[in-house]
Amino acid sequence: MDKKNRKRRTCVVQAGLGDPVNYRAVIPPLCLSSTFQMDEIGKKAVHEYSRTRNPTRDHLAQAMAEIEKGYGACVTASGMAALTLIVHLLNPEDLLIAPYDCYGRSYRMLSALAEKKHFRLKFVDQYSAKGIEEAFSETPKMVLIETPSNPVMRIADIKAIAAKAKACGALTVVDNTFLSPMLQQPLTLGADIVYHSTTKFLNGHSDVVGGCVVTNTKELWDQLDFWANSLGLIGAPFDSYLTLRGLRTLELRVHRAQENALAIAQMLESHPKVSKVYYPGLPSHAGHTIAASQQEGFGAMLSVELKGDQDTARRFVAALNLFRLAQSLGGTESLINHPASMTHVSMGPEAREKAGVTDQLLRLSVGIEHIEDLLSDLRGALAAV
Ligand code: PLP
Repeated sequence: MDKKNRKRRTCVVQAGLGDPVNYRAVIPPLCLSSTFQMDEIGKKAVHEYSRTRNPTRDHLAQAMAEIEKGYGACVTASGMAALTLIVHLLNPEDLLIAPYDCYGRSYRMLSALAEKKHFRLKFVDQYSAKGIEEAFSETPKMVLIETPSNPVMRIADIKAIAAKAKACGALTVVDNTFLSPMLQQPLTLGADIVYHSTTKFLNGHSDVVGGCVVTNTKELWDQLDFWANSLGLIGAPFDSYLTLRGLRTLELRVHRAQENALAIAQMLESHPKVSKVYYPGLPSHAGHTIAASQQEGFGAMLSVELKGDQDTARRFVAALNLFRLAQSLGGTESLINHPASMTHVSMGPEAREKAGVTDQLLRLSVGIEHIEDLLSDLRGALAAV
């Protein structure tokens, strides 16, 4: 069967299996070698030095390119390294437009680089027709989209924004960390580049920090591959090995976790101690219709605002047993995060207020545990506040 016609679940399970150069091992062995023996002077080899190319990292890159339906991928040391790599496509006079409520560390890194004149930067509203119109009032070179946004799950219309970007010759870049390619494939919606913190759903076991960038053309991949190698932003072989292992069960994990997330969102929405639930799978969510049209599921991330203040949030978290207070997301285990003091603290209070990150807002990364246990944990903690 032509690889192009394989379903995503088949791609992630089969990527790299039975490679004839690896003793026909069904599971490709981990290749830690930093350097490779060459045949003769002047004869190029595919693998020479592991910063440039490594067999284990290549297997992960191939799998990522296949499931995102791209031309090629670069595996990086983290999600932040992936974004660092992408912005190296920009020149100092180029304008980058990014969502005003993007991931806090992305916000901080982009702001700091713009201050150093690496590129020009404008934070924009991408969630309304008016906002998009204003965002394009000046011609950008690159448009960054993060949908659903972190932490209040705003939905940006990838197709509409990518079409506008294309019309003015700008590249569209999508951070697809929150959904994974199982639930959203931005390249098929018109984006040029998609990137991930593979730390999250792709690895899925909370034991690797990594990233990856997938492009829709050879030309873009060549440029990114050059910068990944030149800057040394590449992912380690062992991390790639673990991520590829995690990827094998991506579809099963993501589907179970999103089933749990929907049941939790529905329970929280009807609870008297909750003021707001942000989950794109709820018809009450402002981005529900666009999410339903561009996503293949609503994901396992949701945020909840409790009635009360930061102390209410603190007491609620303290009363939980299964949901652990932690920074990350996308693992098999359920986690809870207080964005105002954790992931989004670097935004500063003004930007947080604009982004809707209140002191009583909590973000849940729903895991694959039994739903009855998760619901009972949350109900118990709500009863305690
Ligand atoms: N993008 C999003 C949406 C994230 O949530 C994160 C991390 O939380 C990143 C990017 C950065 O990824 P990493 O922590 O792997 O550098």
